[in-house]
Amino acid sequence: MATPQAKPILISGAGLASLLLAQSLRLSRIPFRIYERDSSFHFRGQGYRLRLSAEGLDAIESVLDKPTFAKFWDACGKTGGAGLAAYNAVTGEQTEHKVPEGLASRGGKVVGISRGDMRRIFAEGLEDRIEWGKQVVGYETEGSADQEGGVRLVFADGAKSDWGSMVVGGEGIYSKVAKQLSGGKLKVYDTGARGIHGQAPSTSFKGLGEGVFRLRDDTNERGGVFLITNVRPGELDDPTVEFGWTMVGEPGAIRAPNDDYSVVGKTAADLAKDLTKNWHPKFKPLIDEMKESEAAFWKITCSTPSGVPEWTNDPRVTVIGDAVHSMTPAGGIGANTAVRDSALLGRLLREAGGYKPGVTAAYEKEMRVYGSEAVHESYSTAVRQFSIKIDEETSTTV
Ligand SMILES: Cc1cc2nc3c(=O)[nH]c(=O)nc-3n(C[C@H](O)[C@H](O)[C@H](O)COP(=O)(O)OP(=O)(O)OC[C@H]3O[C@@H](n4cnc5c(N)ncnc54)[C@H](O)[C@@H]3O)c2cc1C
Repeated sequence: MATPQAKPILISGAGLASLLLAQSLRLSRIPFRIYERDSSFHFRGQGYRLRLSAEGLDAIESVLDKPTFAKFWDACGKTGGAGLAAYNAVTGEQTEHKVPEGLASRGGKVVGISRGDMRRIFAEGLEDRIEWGKQVVGYETEGSADQEGGVRLVFADGAKSDWGSMVVGGEGIYSKVAKQLSGGKLKVYDTGARGIHGQAPSTSFKGLGEGVFRLRDDTNERGGVFLITNVRPGELDDPTVEFGWTMVGEPGAIRAPNDDYSVVGKTAADLAKDLTKNWHPKFKPLIDEMKESEAAFWKITCSTPSGVPEWTNDPRVTVIGDAVHSMTPAGGIGANTAVRDSALLGRLLREAGGYKPGVTAAYEKEMRVYGSEAVHESYSTAVRQFSIKIDEETSTTV
């Protein structure tokens, strides 16, 4: 167990990976602080739904205490029909019956949860450990790697955190900690593909029935467009329940005004409606009845497809989640891989009794293997599904 006077572990970003790591540290009684750029959890839309893989669920269960995992499990939707039913979005014809993707994760069901619910449950009990409105732009280290030295975060306004024992960069695809740590080797590429996320009352999904669906439209001359959604049982008659969908366009098919992908609301909703105006009547309600305020653009990015690069290990600094291995939506494994990082790093820190030289190296060695596999799998699926191509030498990075 950590000594009471141990310096805290400083976590950058309060996303899914960081919060789950923080839960692990809390249960191990290892001191930590979290620094988040946003002013609260409600600062921006959190609506989209995450599908949880068997590995992701196991990782979450290995971290949370039993009552919290039970609450998490209750909040998850469980959908039958363990495959993905593919349709031609325009003709309404089923193109493939139950595409054999390994979607089911427990009890033969597809398990999913909204990002907002997941974050809310992961944040329970951490409220007084999060500092809001702290945009991390880098870190400074002092002294040796032993217990005497330290590291602190630097914020956009020039302020600095107190000294900590270790920094964990969990601030997503634009992570400055990742850039500094890896000397620019950790790169995130713009794939050119764009998405729109939307939400509509569950009653709008009645034409589909229960299951996981992929609707594809190849009639758009700017590029193919497809939509993925998960229709859960039991709630199709309750219009107060909303289901989400994610639309993805091949490069060129979806364009935000002025290429500004932070735009949310009506502009994104109108574009989604325009793109789908010739869709089959059983699918159109998903888009036509969407809640406009929840519509959001999404720039589809991916880390280096050939794998998580090597960098000179810094015993005091490491990176988790999208900051080290972001991926395309193909395969739905980004968050699942992120929570594996939290479980692994949390376990290694618990076994070491807090920060110790060697922990980050051991974590990175293991993470590089499954992180690289996940990025590669997601990238190769996206190449096939929505015609992206990354050239690691020349493609634009974000
Ligand atoms: C529409 C959509 C659908 C998806 N569907 C799936 C799915 O079905 N299954 C799946 O596994 N994955 C899915 N993903 C991917 C998944 O959401 C990510 O992989 C996951 O959220 C990564 O978690 P993270 O904690 O690393 O980063 P994030 O969740 O992005 O969290 C990063 C946090 O850091 C904060 N931050 C950013 N910059 C700074 C800074 N400079 N200083 C301080 N804080 C900062 C952010 O505000 C945020 O709170 C989807 C993603 C999208 C967009």
